Amino acid sequence: RIGRYRDTFIAMEPHVPRTARIALNRPIRRLFDYLVPDHIALQPGQRVTVPFGRQSATGLVVETDAKPPEGITLKPVRSAAEAWPALPPETFRLLSWASDYYQHPLGECLFTALPPALRRGRPAVENADPYWQACGDPALLPGNATRQRELLAWLNRQPGGAGSKQIVRAGFTQSQIRSLQEKELIRETTPPTPDGVTEETRNRIPVLSPAQQEAANQLPSPDNGFATALLFGITGSGKTELYLHYLKTHLDDRHQALVLVPEINLTPQTVARFQFYFGPRIAVWHSALKDSERLSTWLRIRNGEPVILIGTRSAVLLPFTDLKTIVVDEEHDSSYKQGEGFRYSGRDTAVYRAHLNNCPVILGSATPSMESYHNALSGKYALIRLEERAGNARPPTIKLLDIRSRPLEGGLSRPALQAIEKCLSNGQQALVFVNRRGFAPVMMCFDCGHMVECPHCDTRLTYHRRDRAMRCHHCDFQTAATDHCPKCDGEAFKPVGQGTERTEDILTSQFPDTPVVRVDRDSTQRKGSIQGILEKVNSGRPCILVGTQMLAKGHDFPNVTLVIVVNADGGLFSVDFRAPEQLIQTLLQVSGRAGRGKKSGEVLVQTCHSDHPLLHSLAEGHYLPVADQLLTERETGQLPPFRAMAIFRAEAETMEKSLQLLDTIKQQARYQQIEIWGPLPALIARRADRLRAQLVLLCSNRKYLNHTLGVLCETLDQSRLPAGLKWAIDVDPQET
Ligand code: ADP
Ligand code: ZN
Repeated sequence: RIGRYRDTFIAMEPHVPRTARIALNRPIRRLFDYLVPDHIALQPGQRVTVPFGRQSATGLVVETDAKPPEGITLKPVRSAAEAWPALPPETFRLLSWASDYYQHPLGECLFTALPPALRRGRPAVENADPYWQACGDPALLPGNATRQRELLAWLNRQPGGAGSKQIVRAGFTQSQIRSLQEKELIRETTPPTPDGVTEETRNRIPVLSPAQQEAANQLPSPDNGFATALLFGITGSGKTELYLHYLKTHLDDRHQALVLVPEINLTPQTVARFQFYFGPRIAVWHSALKDSERLSTWLRIRNGEPVILIGTRSAVLLPFTDLKTIVVDEEHDSSYKQGEGFRYSGRDTAVYRAHLNNCPVILGSATPSMESYHNALSGKYALIRLEERAGNARPPTIKLLDIRSRPLEGGLSRPALQAIEKCLSNGQQALVFVNRRGFAPVMMCFDCGHMVECPHCDTRLTYHRRDRAMRCHHCDFQTAATDHCPKCDGEAFKPVGQGTERTEDILTSQFPDTPVVRVDRDSTQRKGSIQGILEKVNSGRPCILVGTQMLAKGHDFPNVTLVIVVNADGGLFSVDFRAPEQLIQTLLQVSGRAGRGKKSGEVLVQTCHSDHPLLHSLAEGHYLPVADQLLTERETGQLPPFRAMAIFRAEAETMEKSLQLLDTIKQQARYQQIEIWGPLPALIARRADRLRAQLVLLCSNRKYLNHTLGVLCETLDQSRLPAGLKWAIDVDPQET
């Protein structure tokens, strides 16, 4: 009887098909509607397989039961990859916000939060890698089992055992492992923790100095919900120690935490420092991880394991489910902003994530960005100051060395060389900072004045003497170096200017008994090479470090007491309004490598403009007064952070096409509240044979600007663009 009622009930209710709106990993600003078969239950953030064209694609559910446009026959979703959403609600909201804020297609934003394996539609399970230890008597093996005996012997030499994959990599087979397991000569075990630290040290809390303790007391507690603190701690003030203490104090065993660091700071030393206190809870996230490692860490985070994740930019997008606090180290670092595609700022996204999640976020730096400093001054962020070096170390003294009429040897003045000599004879280490890799930034003919340029870019070729090559640092072009001028065949063809290789050569010839260690992108290409270099330096024997930006960031070299800046003038007169800020930050950061141990440090800055007010303030050694000065300039010019900025970038095979498109955008963007600059060719107009131009939009009302950008992007999406013309929008650009 019940059956009869049910029949009538069903007959009366018209069958409403269920639908889902799906995002695909494509650079298009639209979503796709599909039918949902009865046996599949879907929710936002879930991963599905859908038919797309003649193939199938992995998609992410954005909305269920949205009203699809009329008159279109929808195809059904093929299957759900998991029964749970790969992107939990908070992560999903974060990415939707980012998509809207940075004007980037939702699909690509959402997919950024998945590990590569899941983007490709692989199952969300780990390939287990069981860990083995030898446990029996090899004498029990039959005489002909040679390989098994060898495997046992090999395994015995591995402290703590080895994983199956590692065993296979060593030349053995899975079946040999299985045989040994059956004979009970090996047994499965848990991998040892990487540090071998005891529980006791793990539970110890770092002992803070009184100044550190005072700063620690001011850090926002997760119990009080969302708050942003700017920790201004001078170089060597022990910010890392403070983060550790903070996490140890406020994080119990159950919750998750995120520590964002710039790529270059994610050294094994940093990780080891965290592991010392937190053991296997520490996980890392960066672009050099293998796909399997990324999947494994992603799953730990998605499953809500109490992970403390140390990661670069994209770690902020991961599907944390129980995030208790966020730390952003070196918050001023420009590598937090993605330079292409989904151009988000890891730092700003971290602040928004903390807000969504109602937890605190700490932004730490010795040289805060103008944006964060401005927010601190206006009371939006708490400003916590730590202006003493940890231990007994003192801040270094900074001296300007005018080199206008001094003879230079490979870019180094006499006083600089003498200072290095003295430093070495005292058994200490010196660091020489050069802002260019390669041997020299240009090759020039002194007969005809010819300078070798890149055939594809508006740039000069950098001479790399080690490889006898001339290379473009903006595209992949390279050509063999010649002894004669390629234009007039003259012999007076010479390198001009300083690169790290050249400085390395000069120093090697001046100080033949001292190791000279070069650190730049060329010398650290091999995985783990920077680790080796840092270990060598930290062994403490006298040496000279020569390097680029890479050396400026975050490293702790206790025996470096002298820093030489070969040339400080690069950013003084740039047209990019951020150049002075970046110059001062780099100079102070690199200076901060001096005198971090017991001995005090000295910094010599070579310049042709020792009377420049900015360098003068720098020589005082205090950042905030310089920052005040820079902020005043920004305010006068009504530049960020006083107004919001966005840039439309266009590129095509002719400049005309690029400018034309930007001009159309300009016509549509003529609203009173928005100031427009351009369109103008980019600083390096031609790059890899593409001609690039830009249109700058400034507005004091961020919401209004964002809305306008949305409208403009939509119009652009719908208009037919000539072939080969590409455009992009960059919100809060780091480069202008
Ligand atoms: P920052 O990141 O602020 O530049 P670090 O965290 O790298 O500084 O610390 C600088 C140095 O001071 C490190 O060698 C660290 O071990 C040491 N240090 C930090 N805190 C203390 C402390 N409370 N007592 C003694 N040494 C400390
Ligand atoms: Zn080039």
